[in-house]
Amino acid sequence: GLAEDVRRVSGLIREVADFPQAGVLFRDLSPLLADAEGFRVVVDAMALHAAEGTDVVVGIESRGFLLGAAVAHKLGLGVVGVRKPGKLPAVAHRVDYDLEYGTAALELPEGTLAPGARALVVDDVLATGGTVEAACALVEYVGAEVSVVSVVMELAALNGRDRLAGRKVRSLLTV
Ligand code: AMP
Repeated sequence: GLAEDVRRVSGLIREVADFPQAGVLFRDLSPLLADAEGFRVVVDAMALHAAEGTDVVVGIESRGFLLGAAVAHKLGLGVVGVRKPGKLPAVAHRVDYDLEYGTAALELPEGTLAPGARALVVDDVLATGGTVEAACALVEYVGAEVSVVSVVMELAALNGRDRLAGRKVRSLLTV
């Protein structure tokens, strides 16, 4: 079944030590996404996370764009990209947040999420959860709601899930 398929293709994820800084074991999904079967399995499995009701998919720049667009197409839904600052011509809202080192921000494009819309929030890796938290805050700021957070891989030791209390969080792989 799909769970077995996910386990098999997860072997295509590359682990890179000390990127982007010393002490971080970076999970690089690029080889998995580049593989036709790997991409299909991951997108099919993430699309199942939307089963409880979803109106739109929100992908987080930049790896969440690749996954989110494919998941949205599979579900017959539209896709919204939440972006790093300075890319969007019309911004509905901006959220600044802390990373393990330094700060970051995400912006939601104007005119994309109707009040009450149920959004599936998609990214590749859930680490500390700061990035997904910011994306959820953007969705909720405009009166939409997060139906589910869907990621390929969850780094359990960083407790990102705790930071997302109140939202449903689904991951294909937990390490
Ligand atoms: P977070 O700490 O959850 O806000 O993660 C910050 C961003 O960096 C997210 O987009 C994650 O996908 C990515 N990220 C953080 N840690 C890793 C890691 N060990 N491997 C791959 N991506 C990571």
